[in-house]
Amino acid sequence: MPVYYECQRCTACCRWPGDVRVSENEIEKLAATIGLSGEEFIQRFTRLTRDRLGLSLMEKPNGECVFLEGNLCSVQSVKPQQCRDFPNLWRFPGFDQKCHARPQVVDLDRYVELVSKATGRPEEYVRTHPNSH
Ligand code: SF4
Ligand code: SF4
Repeated sequence: MPVYYECQRCTACCRWPGDVRVSENEIEKLAATIGLSGEEFIQRFTRLTRDRLGLSLMEKPNGECVFLEGNLCSVQSVKPQQCRDFPNLWRFPGFDQKCHARPQVVDLDRYVELVSKATGRPEEYVRTHPNSH
């Protein structure tokens, strides 16, 4: 049976080191939300990814995401897909030592429904994604 991880909004994943990749489309949405052009957004809030193949959101000096405000994501409605997909559609060994998402064993249809809602991805994508279940 598949396991759905229910986010507990602890914000640990907004604080640990690493890239938060953003696509061109995501940059446009983020920029529009905070009233900047795409180019201004890139200059102010992104850096090269570690593999130098794309752009990542920048970190604050303390290492947390530039858009984390207290315990809230200030761009929640347009946050990048990478943020939405964790930890149901991607995760790393030992992630559950840092992430407080609550695992729930559910049937496949319920899993697809829950993960689609959590990630904003179409149900068909979730049903066929290799990390899904
Ligand atoms: S964009 Fe929002 S959800 Fe994503 S890492 Fe930054 S603060 Fe967290
Ligand atoms: S995905 Fe995990 S680490 Fe991120 S906010 Fe939710 S419970 Fe916390």
